[in-house]
Amino acid sequence: MKNKVLVPIIALLTMGILVISCVSCSAENSADKSETTATTSDTSKTDAIDYMALVNKTHKLPDNWEKELETVKMTNSVKDEVEVEKKAYDAYLKLKADLEKEDIYVDLDSARRSVKEQQRIMDEFTEKYGKDYALKTVATPGYSEHHTGLALDLYLIVDGKDITENEDMIEYTDIWAKIHKKLADYGFILRYLDGSEHITGYGYEPWHIRYIDNVDVAKEITSKGITFEEYLGTASSAKVDIDYGKFDIYSKEDLEAAVIQIKCQFASWEGCELKRIRYAGDEAVTDENLKRLNEINPDGKYTQVAEFFMDFHTPKDVGELTFKADTDYKDYNWWLGRTEDDGWEIVDKGY
Ligand SMILES: [Zn+2]
Repeated sequence: MKNKVLVPIIALLTMGILVISCVSCSAENSADKSETTATTSDTSKTDAIDYMALVNKTHKLPDNWEKELETVKMTNSVKDEVEVEKKAYDAYLKLKADLEKEDIYVDLDSARRSVKEQQRIMDEFTEKYGKDYALKTVATPGYSEHHTGLALDLYLIVDGKDITENEDMIEYTDIWAKIHKKLADYGFILRYLDGSEHITGYGYEPWHIRYIDNVDVAKEITSKGITFEEYLGTASSAKVDIDYGKFDIYSKEDLEAAVIQIKCQFASWEGCELKRIRYAGDEAVTDENLKRLNEINPDGKYTQVAEFFMDFHTPKDVGELTFKADTDYKDYNWWLGRTEDDGWEIVDKGY
């Protein structure tokens, strides 16, 4: 059951690559239901948060967000408590009522997860498995849309039965199509579109919807069939120079998906400024390099390999990072392995 209880460590380990590529840098990890935080507060504040804020693998939750956030808590049909931003919840109830007129029944599987909760999971994994493994498997705290309280994961109730598993839910394409058609009317958009993984960093998730509190914009985004990133014009991450050079072995989208993984891990290097990412070229795609990555992580079962170089600048205070302060780093090396489900995983990095 997705996002329900802390995924048992064993399950995580045995699910190996699948889990790594699905949750890598995402916050699709579970919330600890026993931890409770303040519910609603301070009704004097209206629209203290920016409903159009972009939070993804490379855009952090805005400062003060959690202080300004007003939430409500509800209990779903499987008796889990779910916390949602107030206006998003009102809009969700209207959407739900509208869907029920067409005999479509949904409920909330998961909505808000606090940065603190995500940090707790990260710390636990770091302590048990080391920092590298934790970074790969656990969402980076601060970089999940679920922190906003505006991202909702729905589940379906079909013939009175709760359908909560992702692999089961995804089969109900007709129902999702009907749900998706109504989202914009209530100020929601579908966030992780099919075929947009190279932009959003996530595979298709028909259940993950995002409240943006603007019906007109939601309609525009939906009718254009674009991602939120594209609408906001950040799809290519402006200032960063991405150089793919010449490539034949991989498609542009393959390389873009790999770069997202790099950016996502880079995002956790507090204060570092990304300048450039360069594909090292097809010459690095050798059996020898593939063998090396598979030796580093035999569980990876990598099928292909890609090398990238990165230029970045470190901040004056590097904190826990092992880099020199206020320094330009050039051609820092990233090695990625292609997993069996065609995702990418960072296997090795450094000089
Ligand atoms: Zn989600």
